[in-house]
Amino acid sequence: MSASPGRLVVVSGPSGSGKTSVCRALKQRPDVEFSVSATTRAMRHGERDGVDYHFLSRDDFQRRVAENQFLEWASYNGNLYGTPRWPMDQALARGKTFLLEIEVKGTRQLRERGIPGLYVFIAPPSLAELRSRLEKRGSNDQTEISQRLRIAEDELAAAREIVAGVPMYDITVENRDLAETIRSVEALIWP
Ligand code: 5GP
Repeated sequence: MSASPGRLVVVSGPSGSGKTSVCRALKQRPDVEFSVSATTRAMRHGERDGVDYHFLSRDDFQRRVAENQFLEWASYNGNLYGTPRWPMDQALARGKTFLLEIEVKGTRQLRERGIPGLYVFIAPPSLAELRSRLEKRGSNDQTEISQRLRIAEDELAAAREIVAGVPMYDITVENRDLAETIRSVEALIWP
């Protein structure tokens, strides 16, 4: 069997690191397809079902887990998130760059299974800067901001793990300036 002609790019980073903005820029490229994850979390203002996420009930999500419909899935801050399997297979077979924006536990699962790709971690300049970005975002309350900061500390530590003999991430890009970060990530994907 020949290797698939496309390429998987995994982007992770703490909430507020800027990874969503980086992915939004990458999505503009015609040869890039983006994975729409499933989640049990409530829809935020401005989000659209089937575009930003597939919003599922917990029962529906669990049923899909049992049916092995997810490439990976993880719990984050009390909600479940998972990557549907078939869009990636289809995109890679068509030679696309397939972009996953997922958290660290899901990335670990992909690494453990030796799934080839470019694994990029977007890091904030500091935790203080991360807090200030989350506060400016306004869509998270104080409790959720504190929870997300605690998770961020764990994620920053986990990002340095070695999984199945390789670093979890091929590269960490510190996001001081968004335009510069986007240019750096683009240069990694399309050298
Ligand atoms: P948010 O609630 O802010 O949209 O996402 C919370 C976290 O879940 C983010 O780190 C986001 O990247 C991650 N996430 C989104 N979709 C998936 C997914 O399909 N799998 C995993 N493992 N994480 C996801």
